[in-house]
Amino acid sequence: MDKIRIPFIKGDGVGPEVTESMRRIIDAAVLDAYSGNRKIDWTEVPAGGSAFERYGTYMPDETVEAFRTCGVGIKGPLMTPVGGGIRSLNVYLRQTLDLYVCLRPVRWFKGVESPVKHPENVDMVVFRENTEDIYAGIEWEAGTPEARKFYDFIHDGMGVTKVRFPETSAFGVKPVSKEGSERLIRSAIRYALDHGRPSVTLVHKGNIMKFTEGGFKKWGYELAEREFGEELRSGRLVVKDCICDAFLQNALLKPEDYSVIATLNLNGDYVSDMLAAQVGGIGISPGANINYSTGLAIFEATHGTAPDIAGRNIVNPCSNLLSGVMMLEHVGWDEAGSLVTSALEDSFSAGYATADLARLMENGKPLGTREFTDHIISLL
Ligand code: NAD
Repeated sequence: MDKIRIPFIKGDGVGPEVTESMRRIIDAAVLDAYSGNRKIDWTEVPAGGSAFERYGTYMPDETVEAFRTCGVGIKGPLMTPVGGGIRSLNVYLRQTLDLYVCLRPVRWFKGVESPVKHPENVDMVVFRENTEDIYAGIEWEAGTPEARKFYDFIHDGMGVTKVRFPETSAFGVKPVSKEGSERLIRSAIRYALDHGRPSVTLVHKGNIMKFTEGGFKKWGYELAEREFGEELRSGRLVVKDCICDAFLQNALLKPEDYSVIATLNLNGDYVSDMLAAQVGGIGISPGANINYSTGLAIFEATHGTAPDIAGRNIVNPCSNLLSGVMMLEHVGWDEAGSLVTSALEDSFSAGYATADLARLMENGKPLGTREFTDHIISLL
């Protein structure tokens, strides 16, 4: 039998509920697709609030090591620690394991209510840079000696005179490198070619941030020409760019013009949530953090821990579930992934969904998390 070991983090708040649903459906799909010849060997690894209570740390080293060793894993949502130490457990994992791509596919499911007229025209895959930009966390609070020191350095040492209110300014540093940009854009281009997608759009604010975001665009075009010149000339692939604010308009007005998006960390955060909202899928959109050089990938629910609905059997498990589908595709178990996707399509088309989606559907029939899970398994 073909067995694959998958470490998983249950997560905090609604995490245990969405994780249980995801595991049950994925196991059933794998069983159906491969008649018992393939199986997932799930291994729970601790993280988040429950790990802190038990081990005194939000992210034990063994958890990070389990992901590193297995090369693949999945996680439910994690609370954000307050106070000092780790700022965000997600950002910590991405940076520690150098998971430089945040991959967010965005598509519409028939039956899901959307705020736009033609959500079916949205079919994009966002490659968001995950390790650089303002998310590197290099910043100093206003009024601290560090902020003062930083200001003195840029003022006295670098001749910067443009800080309007130096005494009350906080400062942040935005590192954007050639290597970091190139590996992200290379991954996006390879993905587009492998999946028969027509274009990669570099989304940036290079008109204002000329060296950081402008560098991203410049290095992207140079890399495309240098490494994918033949594909560009043969017309197999188009590489283009768009300034982020224009992109946010265009993606609403003519989403069919865009396919694969490569962008920096902060833009990617805004862009992926806006696109997800456009297809009505903010609560169901999946995500993954991937290092395409090592192959290491962690799949994740993109929503938070939703403490207001935790333990009430009403959470929508689809974000974590569709991340599980991405994980199946990542390990080459596409058949099992397709079974899940088709079951979701059938379910939503007939109006069966958890309450958050069903209440917006014309023919909505709300199901509890466990009942929805059973229903999807019955449709596989
Ligand atoms: P949230 O996503 O947890 O909740 C926002 C709203 O959406 C809530 O009303 C919630 O009930 C609802 N919601 C979220 N997911 C849902 C689902 N699957 N089904 C139905 N309704 C759903 O965001 P928040 O309240 O801002 O954050 C709560 C905690 O989660 C914070 O500690 C935050 O830092 C953390 N967080 C974690 C992640 C992650 O681990 N990837 C992402 C975002 C926020």
